[in-house]
Amino acid sequence: MAKIKITGIKGMNDMLPEEAGIWEKFEDTARCVAASYGYRQIRTPILEATGLFARGVGEATDIVEKEMYSFTDSMNGEQLTLRPECTSAVCRCAIEHNITYNAPQRLWYFGPMFRHERPQRGRYRQFYQFGCEALGFGGPDVDIELLSLTARLWKNLGIKASLQLNSLGATEERARHREALVAYLKDNYDVLDEDARRRLETNPLRILDTKNPDMQAMVEAAPRLLDFLGEDSRRFLGSLEAGVQALGIDYTINPRLVRGLDYYNHTVFEWVTDQLGSQGTICGGGRYDPLIEMLGGRATPAAGFAIGAERVIELVRAAGGDKPVAACDIYVAHQGGHTELVARQIGEQLRDAGHRVIVHAGSTSFKSSMKRADQSLAQWAVICGENEVNAGQVAIKRLRDAQGNQQFAEQMTIALESLSEIFGAAKEPDFS
Ligand code: ATP
Ligand code: MG
Repeated sequence: MAKIKITGIKGMNDMLPEEAGIWEKFEDTARCVAASYGYRQIRTPILEATGLFARGVGEATDIVEKEMYSFTDSMNGEQLTLRPECTSAVCRCAIEHNITYNAPQRLWYFGPMFRHERPQRGRYRQFYQFGCEALGFGGPDVDIELLSLTARLWKNLGIKASLQLNSLGATEERARHREALVAYLKDNYDVLDEDARRRLETNPLRILDTKNPDMQAMVEAAPRLLDFLGEDSRRFLGSLEAGVQALGIDYTINPRLVRGLDYYNHTVFEWVTDQLGSQGTICGGGRYDPLIEMLGGRATPAAGFAIGAERVIELVRAAGGDKPVAACDIYVAHQGGHTELVARQIGEQLRDAGHRVIVHAGSTSFKSSMKRADQSLAQWAVICGENEVNAGQVAIKRLRDAQGNQQFAEQMTIALESLSEIFGAAKEPDFS
């Protein structure tokens, strides 16, 4: 039969076991930091009705215009989409289950998102986001909380990023600014690229976000939304800045920061780095007070952010945070037959004490067992040789220290019954 070569889909990555350590470090750190602020996990399906994103992300956004994986369910004709982001799905879920009825909610999620983009460094078609959503809080208190949560996450992951803040004000202020902006852009129609000309009517604010170098000077001189903010919006931004300053978090105000999604108001922010080439934004977020009502819920103020996991992991790796992770603490070798049965019993006993244990499987030659033990990066090998087991003994050998450095210690023979004393509930064996 002819062999067919099937490969993964372009822009969708496999995570190999060598990378599991750094992904788990990211996920565990994010989960713990979120929990330390009282955020609880929420999980929504990967598939949603297409209409959710058309409404919740906005028709005139890159995501809805050209990035969604949408299809018709051949069973019942429903229009479905692989989620490109999770905020609208979290809001849909909150409305459907009425979870903000009694109290506001602090929520986090982690999972894959799908966008049909041109794959490149830091930009994939399936990528992972970790995000938090604070539903039912008017801010700016909770906006400050979200910023301190993200700052703590970078600290705990050992990476650096800088914070850019802006305010999108209230709806009426954006409408007045939009008028002035459209007039200005029409005056500069010659400079606009095709994308910008199209957006002039649909989403002119997005033009400020352009990466086209030929448009930079024009965009730089455009009317600034900050200048259109009324007293309330300015006070809101002032309190946000005071709160962030009081926590010692550095930031810059970037008047051109608008974010890609339509539903933001007041606070918008991004954490950026110059270490990742042009995909330098590792986290984007802000306030989206209109969204829940737009999706058919009771008016509920809310704020949140989403972090691109692949980009953050690349930073953690660059900062030297990608240490190889041992597959187990203790590797148990044996010679087959009844020594294998003893080895399996020892494995269970050591797991009861909280150790991670691999009991050798496959060829029972000691040479290959010890090679596997070494490859596992285990700190200890327990060796169940025929003669030792018959005498009620096993050999133990230190392979690595707790930092993973190779050790060249002699092996020691010990009585089988002293094994559980030596490898007590602690990770480090106790010979006292
Ligand atoms: P960009 O301007 O880079 O396209 P965006 O505004 O589309 O970003 P958001 O929708 O705000 O991004 O998503 C939040 C974060 O998720 C981004 O800051 C980024 O870190 C990450 N992200 C977005 N799209 C991708 C992608 N295609 N591949 C990997 N990470 C992504
Ligand atoms: Mg994008």
